[in-house]
Amino acid sequence: MKYKRILLKLSGESLMGKKQYGIDPATLSQYASEIKRVSEMGVEIAIVIGGGNIFRGVDSEGTGIDRVQGDYMGMLATLINAMALQSALENAGLITRLMSGIKVEQVCEPFIRRRAVRHLEKRRIVIFGAGIGNPYFTTDSTASLRAVEIEADVVLKGTRVDGIYTADPEKDPAATRYRSISFQEVYEKRLNIMDMTAFTLCKENDLPIIVFDFNKPGNLHRIVEGEDVGTLVTM
Ligand code: UDP
Repeated sequence: MKYKRILLKLSGESLMGKKQYGIDPATLSQYASEIKRVSEMGVEIAIVIGGGNIFRGVDSEGTGIDRVQGDYMGMLATLINAMALQSALENAGLITRLMSGIKVEQVCEPFIRRRAVRHLEKRRIVIFGAGIGNPYFTTDSTASLRAVEIEADVVLKGTRVDGIYTADPEKDPAATRYRSISFQEVYEKRLNIMDMTAFTLCKENDLPIIVFDFNKPGNLHRIVEGEDVGTLVTM
């Protein structure tokens, strides 16, 4: 297999499936089976899940909730998703640990890097909830930071489209997919992969990113096997 330790980033919105809000149980169990498949190959898996299906700090503008308060609400939203994903993974027979960026002692462990690495070495799937634990960040930044900290081989960013395109494939039928692209080109072409803080952290630490369609069954497995899926961003 090409990657031994991966950091999988999933958006909160993807958990909605066809629903307008919240968490779709069918999507959750589909994700669990995809993750199980690569776990059984012996891949060490860490996961960061967003909270956009429940709450985002930026959405608090004009609601009487200030940005920082909103961001903490967003972090708690990611924790709700992380708990749901943890249950789905456990239902699939996997061993998991949920680690939080803010203290939620009755619910899960705090994030401690050495402990996270130990869990991974023991083949436990580690979910990082509550983001970094600081406002003004995103779960993409969390994915990049945690991936660097745990020395993951790659950040796998699951999205609805199967990679990075020359233009928006939902609007422009002539758009083509990049099989690979450099960090520099992404800056120059102003391609929107993740927020710049998250993206730059990967670049500065020479950590490759693969953008891929996680909803397509087998894609995660194919990536780990080294197949050409999605778009690889490297130096
Ligand atoms: N958030 C934060 N700090 C973090 C991670 C997340 O403040 O380290 C908040 C922020 O408000 C963000 C929300 O949590 O909008 C949910 O995360 P995100 O928007 O990244 O979720 P996604 O878009 O991936 O569903």
